[in-house]
Amino acid sequence: MATEPIKVLIVDDDPAMLRLLAKWLEAEGYQVLRAGDGRMAMELIEAEHPRLLVTDWEMPPLNGLELCRWVRSQNFGHYLYTIFLTVRTESADMLKGLEAGADDFLKKPIDRNELLARIRAGSRVMELEQRLSLLANTDGMTGLATRRVLFEDLRREWSRSERYHTPLSCVMIDIDYFKRVNDNYGHLAGDEVLRQLGQLLGTAVRNSDFIGRFGGEELLRCAAGNHRTTSRVMGRADAKPDHGAAGIGQRREAGHHRELRRRPAPRRYVVA
Ligand SMILES: [Mg+2]
Repeated sequence: MATEPIKVLIVDDDPAMLRLLAKWLEAEGYQVLRAGDGRMAMELIEAEHPRLLVTDWEMPPLNGLELCRWVRSQNFGHYLYTIFLTVRTESADMLKGLEAGADDFLKKPIDRNELLARIRAGSRVMELEQRLSLLANTDGMTGLATRRVLFEDLRREWSRSERYHTPLSCVMIDIDYFKRVNDNYGHLAGDEVLRQLGQLLGTAVRNSDFIGRFGGEELLRCAAGNHRTTSRVMGRADAKPDHGAAGIGQRREAGHHRELRRRPAPRRYVVA
């Protein structure tokens, strides 16, 4: 299975060093982003979400330590493994780097093999972190987001919607008579219904939307856009009236995320 190349951000105020590091890393299949100073690095971290950061220590106007402290103060939702490039090898300096949040150090002048070995070690840590976070954030039954992730996403989208005065719609999806499925066909069959519904709705939503398991046989889907767009997107999920209910709400101009205005009475769908 083809895997995405790992994104590595390298930061150094020396363009020759950036070129050399990029050449070594690209030859090994890494996707390399480059920044000539700490400010540019911050922008790239926010926009491109690299998984590894290799940063010089001494750089104007924002040095590697300050960059690293900033990284650790942010809440990216994933870990950014950080390696410092430095001529400083005194233990007091190393301590300072570790306290700022560094994971590893590479002594200048940089040895190619050592760089690659440390990047591989960092990649192993990142892969493990990615697997654990996938397990923690995905509902085992439906393969959709867990309730906790769903509420985090909802809070974030709610603030965005308030800030930019854009509509936000939510659909609460419920399977009718789900207990009967469990009672008549057994819990394994009920699980299979949930699994398939999760798969179907997970692929039917747009990239900008998010959907998760609200609880039991209830799913919640949220989308930037008004309730009409949301209804249309629901309609595309091959929905025919009758075996489930989907209530649609839209954010009021001023309100709390517990106050979604209910739109026309719940429509009923068969999603099959
Ligand atoms: Mg420098």
